[in-house]
Amino acid sequence: MLDFGSLLLATALSGACLSGTLVAIWLTARQSRFVLTMAVGILLLVTHVIAFWLYGRDASPWLGPAMLALLVAGFFVVFAAADQYIERGWSKPAALPIAAIIALTVVATAFGLDGIGFIIAYSAVTGILIMTATAFWTCKDVDRRVLAPVSLLTGSSAISFALCAFVIIQQKQWTLGSVPHNWAEDVNTVVVVACMTALGALTISFHHLRTQSRLTEETLTDPLTGLMNRRALNSLHGDTSFGQHMALAMVDLDHFKRTNDVFGHAVGDRVLQRFADVVRRYANDDVEVFRLGGEEFAIVMSGMSALEAYEILRKVGASFGAEVVGTKLGPLRSTVSVGVCFGDGEMRTVEQMLLGADAALYAAKRAGRNRVATAETADSEGYREPELLFA
Ligand code: GH3
Ligand code: MG
Ligand code: MG
Repeated sequence: MLDFGSLLLATALSGACLSGTLVAIWLTARQSRFVLTMAVGILLLVTHVIAFWLYGRDASPWLGPAMLALLVAGFFVVFAAADQYIERGWSKPAALPIAAIIALTVVATAFGLDGIGFIIAYSAVTGILIMTATAFWTCKDVDRRVLAPVSLLTGSSAISFALCAFVIIQQKQWTLGSVPHNWAEDVNTVVVVACMTALGALTISFHHLRTQSRLTEETLTDPLTGLMNRRALNSLHGDTSFGQHMALAMVDLDHFKRTNDVFGHAVGDRVLQRFADVVRRYANDDVEVFRLGGEEFAIVMSGMSALEAYEILRKVGASFGAEVVGTKLGPLRSTVSVGVCFGDGEMRTVEQMLLGADAALYAAKRAGRNRVATAETADSEGYREPELLFA
């Protein structure tokens, strides 16, 4: 049979080590603040476990309230860590009610009603764990295979705390003078050891997953404009067959070298950012924008007719043409030339579409810039007469 005291101390020791490991991880990756919060939460729980063990040996009047306060606070901080990870902002509004519950627990226990104190604390922990399980389960950007065990563990811990409270109520033990001893407590100890250890380990996994997805995002994002880059275009559309209702446009800023030469490179950068801001207004699931490099951009449009795609490009060009960038030498206006290639029954690759759009772009430049030119097909030379975008 298990020696309850040794089990509690072993739990405290393993929790303390886990908390130390999390702090060490946080020291090397300070942007992952949820790792530190989880370390603090686990440390509070470790202190609770030690206090629980001491209370079982000597139920001193100051230890009971402190022990129960640590239990509720510890689980609340664990919840706050989960909330920090999923970025919902649920923990802030919950802080005040939890503080009130802790105060109630402390008062009841300090007045000798430690049984009531345990009931309130266990019920609060049940609620906090249900919120934690829900928070993890509703997190969208993490694989369900990682979320399922966390939600399962926090969910089963919630049930086990609810059972502990239920047994004390059933036995009407309003005053205990020690820690509760019943079957629910035994089950709870085992469940909570598993939950705490797994939560710590999974926090490390969450940290790795988030770091990995941030790195992936960075490699696919252009740092100057925040738009997706050429690698993202290849990654998203490397295997796309551009059929009907799809279009790819290439957009190139006009006389951009002159902008740099006259106004300076920093102003040039601001013009590029301004273009990104303009085009972002039109971006959605069906309109994806990429910076290919330099002052060249690509726009992939799906689920729309050629006319609708053309209209979006015309609006992008006209809106950008109307933008004014303030400079030391006075207001600066810029324009773009656009070449667009529409998908058709030929089901072209992204490279073929880029070739077609580039040829059309060349035609737009030749026709005097500041306009949209269309390539009917990737390899045809049959452009429509390019229209002036911004007068
Ligand atoms: P056109 O109308 O025919 O497109 O002429 P252009 O001057 O825009 O074309 P060109 O290709 O000659 O010049 C592109 C310039 O873009 C040259 C390069 O210095 C500048 N450029 C490329 N990347 C950046 C950048 O990140 N920031 C700034 N400020 N300039 C850049
Ligand atoms: Mg260019
Ligand atoms: Mg240019």
